[in-house]
Amino acid sequence: MPALIDRFERKHDYLRISVTDRCNLRCLYCMPEEGVQFAPSDDLLSYDQIVEVVETGAALGISKLRITGGEPLVRPGLDSLVRRLAAIPGIREISLTTNGVLLADQAEALRKAGVTRVNISLDTLDPARFRFIARRGELKRVLDGIEAAAKAGFAPIKLNCVLLKGVNEDEIAAFLMMARDQPLHVRFIEYMPIGHADENWKKHYLPLSRVLEMAQELGLQTERRDNVVGNGPSDDYRIAGGAGSFGLIHPVSDHFCQRCNRLRLTADGSIKPCLYWVDELNVKPALGNPEAMQALFMRAMDIKPLNHEMAAKLADEAQSHVPTERRMSQIGG
Ligand code: SAM
Ligand code: SF4
Repeated sequence: MPALIDRFERKHDYLRISVTDRCNLRCLYCMPEEGVQFAPSDDLLSYDQIVEVVETGAALGISKLRITGGEPLVRPGLDSLVRRLAAIPGIREISLTTNGVLLADQAEALRKAGVTRVNISLDTLDPARFRFIARRGELKRVLDGIEAAAKAGFAPIKLNCVLLKGVNEDEIAAFLMMARDQPLHVRFIEYMPIGHADENWKKHYLPLSRVLEMAQELGLQTERRDNVVGNGPSDDYRIAGGAGSFGLIHPVSDHFCQRCNRLRLTADGSIKPCLYWVDELNVKPALGNPEAMQALFMRAMDIKPLNHEMAAKLADEAQSHVPTERRMSQIGG
């Protein structure tokens, strides 16, 4: 079997699978307040079909999966999918990204089914601000979800915190203190213009250099670490004398495309070689035909661009390709 190597010699062993475009929150950086037009349920890949796509991917060298969405925990029976994915030869890791709202009830079943790691999104520690950012839901349920994940044995738990200028930048210090005092890994993420390079994005985009400045202001001694398993494009830091760690994911201010090893599968069945651009390959015509499915994966390698151009977008420069109009929830972040 050929390996998944693209035109720029990047080897791909990681597939992020969106199992639904639906969500129980409406985060202001991800979806418009009124929501988006959700795909009709019939358009979503069934669990059988997702397993089929992953079987071909695994035969081509995919060994790591991440289940995401939309909110993956709103799709019924997710543990049954995980169990089937974990049994596919070659699959070594299955991680999950969730907003945590429904996690308290599902953490244990998901761990038993084969989820190896969990990332929980947490942008604020303030209940009122949570409502402002997520526009619905309750912070308390997310915190319960984090606790349940720890009880179920997930370690270290990673928290995804999208930093927004003028919204939660005043909580950088609190999140850094959490990373110092608790056995957690806090990942600060730059706000990306996915599917909408609008005024909101320009207003709230915050480069992550602010996090390192704040660590210095707080007198924290930080040290780069290279070996956090499964952290992909994150620049990771340890805090001297601390229980946890933190990481910076800065796709806009300093992109990491040269290290990209990932493909995405959207809930409605398209392989996306790059998060940012419009190009995607519909897997549905290839279902039931492993050779055609393999050819699609190889085609993704042929069309994958060298990098995204989010920084160019920020500077209002012309771009070389056409950006996607899908929102993050529709692609699978
Ligand atoms: N619903 C789940 C959640 O929120 O964790 C999984 C899907 S969500 C699209 C995956 C991750 O993408 C979350 O951590 C979220 O904060 C992040 N995200 C969504 N839109 C983003 C944007 N425009 N820029 C940066 N990160 C974004
Ligand atoms: Fe939903 Fe996750 Fe998007 Fe928030 S970031 S709206 S929780 S998909």
